[in-house]
Amino acid sequence: MRTPVYYFSCREYDKEKLKDIVNILFKNMNFKGKKVLLKPNMLQGHDPGQNVTTHPAVVEACAECVLEKGGECFIGDSPSGRGKENARRAASKTGFLEICEKLGIEFDFFDGQELVEKPVENGLVFDSFFIPESFFSYDMIINLPKLKTHSLTVFTLGVKNMMGVIAGKGKTDFHTRALHPESFADAICDLYSVARPDFTVLDGIRGMQGPGPVSGIEVRAGFILGSEDANALDAAAETLCGADPRRVPITRKAAERGLGSLEYMLDPVLGSPPCGLKFKKPLTYRSAASAMVPRWLLYPLGLIYGYMRIPSVDREVCTGCAKCIQVCPADAIQFKKGRPRIIMKKCVKCYCCAERCPERAIGERFSRLP
Ligand code: SF4
Ligand code: SF4
Repeated sequence: MRTPVYYFSCREYDKEKLKDIVNILFKNMNFKGKKVLLKPNMLQGHDPGQNVTTHPAVVEACAECVLEKGGECFIGDSPSGRGKENARRAASKTGFLEICEKLGIEFDFFDGQELVEKPVENGLVFDSFFIPESFFSYDMIINLPKLKTHSLTVFTLGVKNMMGVIAGKGKTDFHTRALHPESFADAICDLYSVARPDFTVLDGIRGMQGPGPVSGIEVRAGFILGSEDANALDAAAETLCGADPRRVPITRKAAERGLGSLEYMLDPVLGSPPCGLKFKKPLTYRSAASAMVPRWLLYPLGLIYGYMRIPSVDREVCTGCAKCIQVCPADAIQFKKGRPRIIMKKCVKCYCCAERCPERAIGERFSRLP
């Protein structure tokens, strides 16, 4: 049976309209007396207008609905940098802290807590994860990703959004243990097998195309999707953006491992889904022609796929703050004349530097050079 994914046309962050949409999505959910966590995409904390993080209007509409239905609501995520102050700044910049103050609810930074070891059954990269204990205190998890591309994973949507439950240095382990987009997808699926949401609502009103997750270009996709199955929702969003979900490693692998479906039934509750949405994929996305070339021919030779896309610093935009150096898991960034220089031989193309950069100065470019 195909998993339902509910489609709502929504072109603006209009509070009343968002409330109506969320009320329909949560109609059959029983929040009464339950601790409910809203898990948006906070990343490093960016202004909502930059389309990097889940828009606060979507988060607020969900929070109000949970409260009105008698739930105890929390918002929580951890950014790519470390420390509580860093997390507080990120939550403030995204507008999430303001929502908490307005509605009298708490923000869970996940940082500095006792960690609970959660074993991964048949994990491909990780045998277990250390997850902040508060995560297990919630009765329900509502996942609130943003529609965005990602230079490493092609898209970053519902399944990948759960990476935010790993606080601090734990995120770096993903990149040091899973260097390739395929193994990184395995690692994300390992985590998703132990940290799954009850429901996912995708903020696709305005998203990001091209070299995401931070330096891409705005796309006014104009929709909200909702589903109990984050992977089916991801597959639907990718298809709406003109991509084949089977060529997006996380989506394909999650389905292969039985963590979600690739088959979905798009239920247009409000408006009609766009046909032929113009959407620029990141360079990581393999075209139909390149997908016909067997992987064994591409990777062992270390050709094309590995070396075609590389991170690139816009020296005009860069302010020389050095934050990218702090998060690089491969020690691949040096400073020269007050600006970062990426050592390509060391770089594992994880794009953590791009996620951390407050100026959005790191994008990607094609190169045949190793
Ligand atoms: S330079 Fe950037 S993309 Fe390369 S390994 Fe470091 S953080 Fe990752
Ligand atoms: S984080 Fe961004 S602005 Fe800061 S040094 Fe690195 S590239 Fe430049």
